[in-house]
Amino acid sequence: MRPTQTGRSLLPLGQRDLSPVTSRRTTRWKVASRGGTVPPMRISDFQKVIDETYGEKDRRRGLPATFLWFSEEVGELARALNGRTSRENLRLELADTLAWLTTLASMAGIDLEEVAEARYGKGCPRCSALPCRCEERRTAI
Ligand SMILES: [Mg+2]
Ligand SMILES: [Zn+2]
Repeated sequence: MRPTQTGRSLLPLGQRDLSPVTSRRTTRWKVASRGGTVPPMRISDFQKVIDETYGEKDRRRGLPATFLWFSEEVGELARALNGRTSRENLRLELADTLAWLTTLASMAGIDLEEVAEARYGKGCPRCSALPCRCEERRTAI
């Protein structure tokens, strides 16, 4: 059962078992770039591996300090998108930002794959169209 359906969603991820989220689905796709044998990594797989890698450290640091790290990472992504680093660095910063975002979701007890699919899986959450047909809102710059 998913953490968000158990009523235990605020437990630290280390005390919960995310494995049903990944084992629930058995679909396997052929991925040419990986020799056609390795299944692609789902968002839930990524969340699990990031938690196994950093979860303990992140929980020790706490949510406010971890959010600061995430913010710093977003700044690094901004620099890279601005063309101030190499393209390889941009690739790394995108991965870093996703990793920190994923950690924040875990610390908040949120199954990222579940909410991403629920909110965007069928197109725009506002107009329900795919592609979105909402009118672009004007920005100051
Ligand atoms: Mg970085
Ligand atoms: Zn829309």
